[in-house]
Amino acid sequence: MENSKQMRTWLDDMKLDHPLVIAGPCSAETEEQVLRIANELKDTDVNYYRAGIWKPRTRPGMFEGVGALGLKWLQKVKSETGMKTCTEVANAAHVKLALEHDVDLLWIGARSTVSPFIMQEIADALEGTDKIVLVKNPVNPDLALWLGGIERLYTAGIKNLGAIHRGFSTYEKTKYRNIPEWQLAIEFQNKFPDLPLINDPSHITGNREMIFDVSQTALDLNFDGLMIETHFDPDNAWSDAAQQVTPSKLIQIMRDLKIRKESDTEAGYNTELSNLRAQIDVLDSQLIEMLGKRMKISDAIGALKKQKNVAVLQSNRWNAILGNMILEGETKGLSEEFVLKMFKAIHQESINHQEKIINS
Ligand code: PEP
Ligand code: MN
Repeated sequence: MENSKQMRTWLDDMKLDHPLVIAGPCSAETEEQVLRIANELKDTDVNYYRAGIWKPRTRPGMFEGVGALGLKWLQKVKSETGMKTCTEVANAAHVKLALEHDVDLLWIGARSTVSPFIMQEIADALEGTDKIVLVKNPVNPDLALWLGGIERLYTAGIKNLGAIHRGFSTYEKTKYRNIPEWQLAIEFQNKFPDLPLINDPSHITGNREMIFDVSQTALDLNFDGLMIETHFDPDNAWSDAAQQVTPSKLIQIMRDLKIRKESDTEAGYNTELSNLRAQIDVLDSQLIEMLGKRMKISDAIGALKKQKNVAVLQSNRWNAILGNMILEGETKGLSEEFVLKMFKAIHQESINHQEKIINS
């Protein structure tokens, strides 16, 4: 992925020699809990201390956060440990209180990004602030909503902006709590290459065992940082217990992650890379060429079916093709998921072609 960052941002100004790290509990529970976790994180690479004060919970009756009281605890974190702090804001009243209590970074949660009215209310309340404001992706995989949220803040004169990729909810059961849909995050980066993009493996995985792998994938994709929920007693956390790690586990994760450079100026590397990319370009052209040929054959089949007044969709034939291709793909190291997705797309295009012919 080419990434041509041109503008200096708040993140460049921090001059970090590692990706940005935001860590702390999902929720502020008690003053002791907030301070204890902060103390365990203060002499590490963690750059911002997070704690949710107002918690958007799916069902009523669950712990909905300690509210404004927690802002006092975050102030204490700052004065006792020197750490910068951050929290989620979801309406104008939250913004006002967070600014009054000098929270350093505010983020907008996935359930707020889905609502243009709420986004506008928050943008108006933040107007002209020099605080850092990060926008989480909306819960549903809708790139335009995410971009729109950023645009509303930018239009309100908020210059220190960034985004958080926290995955997308899906009705299907998957190994993730929120599926990453990495392609969407990459598209986001392409639209706003200068905007710092942080990954939130906690909310993507919902499971502390998978946090390392998702974090590494994010760094491999040039993400600028990570937000990882951290608690000294994750299992007894008042929210998101399964996905929080202990401070020592977080330190271990940070130590084990491989940080890749965006590029390298060494000549040998560049020659080798251009050579490999040239090979990919040739293969990509061949793929397009072959798909074009395949569609021409589909067109001929469409014409035949039209003559005999036969339906376009023949499920048996299609299932046989799919089964064979999945098996063949396996021998070439292609995952079933990929082969399935690719052939569904090819099949859909074939159907579109044949429909056009039959109805012509
Ligand atoms: C959170 O960060 O604790 C949170 C509620 O996140 P999200 O908005 O991504 O669900
Ligand atoms: Mn959480």
